Amino acid sequence: MTDLAGILCAQIRAGGPISVADYMAHCLGHPQHGYYITRDPLGAAGDFTTAPEISQMFGEMIGLWLAQVWLDAGRPAPFRLVELGPGRGTCMADALRAARAAPGFAEAADLWLVETSPRLRDEQARRLPSAQWAESLDDVPDGPTMLIANEFLDALPVRQFLATAAGWREKQVGLDGDALIWGLSPPLPGGCDAREGSWREESPMAERIARDIAGRIDRQGGAALFIDYGYRAADRPPGFTLQALLRHAPADPLAEPGAADLTWLIDFDRLTESLAPLATACAPQGAFLARLGIGQRVAALAAAKPDEAETIADALERLTAAEQMGTLFKTLAAWPAGQPAPPGFEEVP
Ligand code: SAH
Repeated sequence: MTDLAGILCAQIRAGGPISVADYMAHCLGHPQHGYYITRDPLGAAGDFTTAPEISQMFGEMIGLWLAQVWLDAGRPAPFRLVELGPGRGTCMADALRAARAAPGFAEAADLWLVETSPRLRDEQARRLPSAQWAESLDDVPDGPTMLIANEFLDALPVRQFLATAAGWREKQVGLDGDALIWGLSPPLPGGCDAREGSWREESPMAERIARDIAGRIDRQGGAALFIDYGYRAADRPPGFTLQALLRHAPADPLAEPGAADLTWLIDFDRLTESLAPLATACAPQGAFLARLGIGQRVAALAAAKPDEAETIADALERLTAAEQMGTLFKTLAAWPAGQPAPPGFEEVP
């Protein structure tokens, strides 16, 4: 049993079953035993790999996007450059290098990182000497704000609800002896007109963060770019989307609390609603990277480093191919309503 499993058993024995969101919050963020608190989960030795860790090209495309948005906004100086959940800081370091294509961008950027993990803050400090850290967006000074978040929202706690004949019931984590097991709350008040067996997921924290970002950008200008794996109404999965990853393989989310990464799939339609009144557009990651010119970047990199041409081609495939990250991963841009769409989203519904 992990240390955290013991703590959760004692808590559930004393206070009753907990929601999936509470379980997730403990597993990922417990101050001593939380997954993100105790380790650097990224890379070959960790549990999962993210797009910026696959290739420098990913962060470079984000950098070109940021630079173009900044130029189109009339080069505000200073502006707040914010990343939520920056991991090792790789994406932002690659982005800042590429954004040198826009003279003045780096000097105007006041860089703020929102990160809970002390381990990852250390990694970020090594790669981003000019960074400052904020507990939340509230701590970032006012001003035009350009914000990016790659695989951040999927790590925030999510609540799960199942429609039953007796009404909506919330999925919970309870106990059978010393073993953590799934359960359902008693029917919630308020009735339920959904078909029996239908499900929904809600992340109050993700929605609050999206609303805060929308309010700030609506009042002060800027743009936000979210990248995550998820779905829209047309490809809604058949059931709950919480998943655990341990050493690059799917795992039972209840088996080793605090040792596995837990994520869920973002509902991009719902995220769009939370970002009102901003204008939004959503594009698959593959299409977004292609529109920003990742094809040209591959050619330039391969010409500069012929020995690495195969690795570069592999990375392009992983980031953009439909059966890899190209379609399941989506990008959602948000900007003040009435202004032109940011690069890569000009003709996206
Ligand atoms: N964006 C990075 C890392 C993704 S992993 C990349 O693409 O490689 C998720 C990141 O979000 C980690 O940096 C993790 O520590 C951070 N994180 C998770 N929950 C958080 C929270 N509640 N507040 C701030 N950061 C959080």
